[in-house]
Amino acid sequence: MDLNTRIKLEIDSRRDELVALTQDLIRIPTLNPPGRHYREICDYLAERLARQGFKVELIRAHDAPGDSDTYPRWNLVARREGAAPGDCVHFNSHHDVVELGHGWTRDPFGGEIEGDRIYGRGACDMKGGLAASVIAAEAFIAACPDYRGAIEISATADEESGGYGGVAYLATKGYFAPERVQHVIIPEPLHKDQICLGHRGVWWAEIETHGRIAHGSMPFLGDSAIRHMSAVLTEMEETLYPLLASKRTEMPVIPEGARQSTLNVNAIHGGAPEQAPDFTGLPAPCVADRCRIVIDRRFLIEEQIDEVKSEITAMMERIRARRPGFSYEIRDLFEVQPTMTDRDAPVVRSTAAAIEAVLGREAAYVVSPGTYDQKHIDRIGRLKNCIAYGPGLLELAHQPDEWVGITDMADSAKVMALVLAELLAP
Ligand SMILES: [Zn+2]
Repeated sequence: MDLNTRIKLEIDSRRDELVALTQDLIRIPTLNPPGRHYREICDYLAERLARQGFKVELIRAHDAPGDSDTYPRWNLVARREGAAPGDCVHFNSHHDVVELGHGWTRDPFGGEIEGDRIYGRGACDMKGGLAASVIAAEAFIAACPDYRGAIEISATADEESGGYGGVAYLATKGYFAPERVQHVIIPEPLHKDQICLGHRGVWWAEIETHGRIAHGSMPFLGDSAIRHMSAVLTEMEETLYPLLASKRTEMPVIPEGARQSTLNVNAIHGGAPEQAPDFTGLPAPCVADRCRIVIDRRFLIEEQIDEVKSEITAMMERIRARRPGFSYEIRDLFEVQPTMTDRDAPVVRSTAAAIEAVLGREAAYVVSPGTYDQKHIDRIGRLKNCIAYGPGLLELAHQPDEWVGITDMADSAKVMALVLAELLAP
């Protein structure tokens, strides 16, 4: 029997274990924010992987944003050396999950099973992918104990809040340095037949318009920052949005609507602070002396961040030139460069071949509209040979009644294990 057939049988024989592992992970409620039970989930995985011969390290991201003694940012890195020197293949999953929101009809931390589905917060994003990678590694080791190189599995904090207490911290400490790790797979829920090569870029900024406070019954004595902001929003509608819609990308971004530059206004606020929900009085009448918006600009690999920023400055200057009393400030909040791994990169080629071998169809190549931890591996770790590949449907992420398909998990575990065989078999 050839190695690939043995690997697939090893995974078939672990189907119940894959389900049980996924349920166990869902039952540890690693909610972020604020970052609960991180140590517990790392301990759980460390114990399991140590039994499989992995050397495990628990790493706390001291002083990372959000880290405190109440909510410490714990990460797990487990490494298992092979019988001979060779490449290291690393599976990185974030262990945090987002808040529940409303609308659940299942126990979000119960790991309930119905038919081919396991339900719960994090089922698809991304405890199902984490479980699939663990089973893939264990099955591969059983089928090919004399592999060369090394296998690494990490479970990291805070992806949902930027990854600074997780992958970014580990990358700073050298865990993704090219001499230590050569191939990275992030099992985010991009569907079992798709390879995600990267993501668009991000720029968040706050724009503030200035005014002058006065009595609301005599607005002509003040200067309304809200009316100035209204001029900004109108200019966006008339010139900026059409411009962004005309910028198309060669990146295979999904969904299709994100295959261009986009901008969202994430928030707007002007005038007096909003009152607490339990305050029953009326607001005071004042002309707003300031108004702020937070913009979320997603840009393409064909664009430079400097151009993206100067587009906004140019727009603001156009308004200033024709609008008396108009003054503003722009503050940078956050930025990430777009990234896209080459289709000829070894981890891409191996994963494409494995998808064909397991599913009998060609892999599709996609790019994510939003960012994920690949940004830190690329920028801080300087490692380009990285993709996202894992079971589950991206549309279910962060939704009520989130679920992951058991067959999808088993299939993608086979793909991951075949990638190990391709890259590490002697
Ligand atoms: Zn995720």
